[in-house]
Amino acid sequence: MINDPKAFLKIPRETPLTRDPKERVQDYQEIYIAQSEDKIQQQANRCMDCGVPFCHNGCPLGNLIPEFNEAVTEGNWEEAYLTLSKTNNFPEFTGRICPAPCEASCVLGINESPVTIEHIEKSIIEMAFDKGWVRPEPPTLRTGKKISVIGSGPAGLAAAAQLNKSGHTVTVYERNDRIGGLLRYGIPDFKLEKNVVDRRLLLMEAEGIKFKTGANVGVNVDAKELLQTSDAMILCGGSTIPRDLPIKGRSAKGIHFAMDFLEQNNKRIAGNEIKEPLLSANGKKVVVIGGGDTGADCVGTSNRHGATSVRQIELLFQPPSVRDESTPWPLWPMQLRTSSSHEEGCDRHWAILTKEFLKNEDGSVKGIKTVKVDWKDQKFTEIPGTEEIIECDLVLLAIGFTNPQLEGILSSLGVATNERNLVEDNRYQTNVEKVFVAGDMRRGQSLVVWALAEGREAAEQVDIYFKKSWRGGR
Ligand SMILES: Cc1cc2nc3c(=O)[nH]c(=O)nc-3n(C[C@H](O)[C@H](O)[C@H](O)COP(=O)(O)OP(=O)(O)OC[C@H]3O[C@@H](n4cnc5c(N)ncnc54)[C@H](O)[C@@H]3O)c2cc1C
Repeated sequence: MINDPKAFLKIPRETPLTRDPKERVQDYQEIYIAQSEDKIQQQANRCMDCGVPFCHNGCPLGNLIPEFNEAVTEGNWEEAYLTLSKTNNFPEFTGRICPAPCEASCVLGINESPVTIEHIEKSIIEMAFDKGWVRPEPPTLRTGKKISVIGSGPAGLAAAAQLNKSGHTVTVYERNDRIGGLLRYGIPDFKLEKNVVDRRLLLMEAEGIKFKTGANVGVNVDAKELLQTSDAMILCGGSTIPRDLPIKGRSAKGIHFAMDFLEQNNKRIAGNEIKEPLLSANGKKVVVIGGGDTGADCVGTSNRHGATSVRQIELLFQPPSVRDESTPWPLWPMQLRTSSSHEEGCDRHWAILTKEFLKNEDGSVKGIKTVKVDWKDQKFTEIPGTEEIIECDLVLLAIGFTNPQLEGILSSLGVATNERNLVEDNRYQTNVEKVFVAGDMRRGQSLVVWALAEGREAAEQVDIYFKKSWRGGR
């Protein structure tokens, strides 16, 4: 295809089509239909190569977006893959589930629809896998340094990949039964099918990284002993403590944290034997409290279970349908987001405060008592006369995560935390000698792309730490 520098004036943005919502709620497979090679090249050609690429800055990984767009436009897919993999260890994850801050800061987005960067990224990596360009690349030399990575989410995996590339011997410890953190047991399969995670893990193993599951460091693996036998340790345990809603009636049966529901569902789909009582939305009137992405995942999952109705309520006001002027380009826009899960059926309400959970005589939840609120100067007041009772028999709490788990590894090693109960660091280094931190455990619940960026940066700091020790601390 001929690279047309004015293509952005002629070609409109086209995102990939999705499968029919009625069909896709019958399964947990990916919802997007891949675009043709030609179409992707045309979309990449919309990149203006604008001189100062804000997209590159908008991406926490600093992906070389104009460069790979140009390569794709010209059909140089292998070059595009090599460019993309310079900054991103796992484009197959971010190409599927990233909210794409790069697109929010695309210069074309000032007065036009931005380039479909995320889908181009996914197309590059899928082409690379199809063509066999993604091969294990074990290091040619080993340094003899032993690194323990605690937690196998995207931060831990990115750190492990980078440190292994540097020639260190890396073992990843994971307390769960499978590797992947929230990629595995948080994000539903319809957003990220788990064979995509497995495909990458096989490559990492072939590159020499060791994975240990069922290893809860600080609980069934002695944290101090492990640290003694490691040259460095990176804590990537995530921010796993869910925010609760301790109001009247909270003890009613049928009120669950979103992650209990989502994790069990992912495990069920993976074929695990579920020992706990089944959390099913089948035939239920579901209320999801919390209007964010985790809430949307609960909506999509509830619809797949066969819920009678799904309602999602949010305390904050409804964002505007277009970029709010308080967040002008290239900032991440405050704007209404409708996810694929919402398209599958959901009644959404904003500015609603939940006051009380109502119980049946047998202790099961039968409804929630709510009131509408008015927001002014970032504070809300209840609007008298707007009280309502919403009937439901399953409530999912998706109101965020407060902090990492403090007991276990953090307390065993004496790792210092800050006023938000997140691990305190100085350039990813904690207060404990040779212990580093990355991902949600350091920055609080965030995004996969940030976890990858942090894992990579923490790995670089470990390398700097070793180099300093080789030079006697300089
Ligand atoms: C339901 C849900 C959906 C999301 N969807 C998206 C999305 O679509 N796009 C996006 O960009 N972000 C999404 N996020 C956010 C994203 O998943 C996280 O920001 C990211 O996974 C954080 O990565 P991490 O590696 O820091 O931690 P995690 O992914 O949380 O991984 C931490 C791992 O450490 C393990 N662990 C903890 N302590 C120990 C220990 N002592 N010993 C051994 N193992 C331990 C845990 O079991 C876990 O597997 C979502 C989050 C949730 C909850």
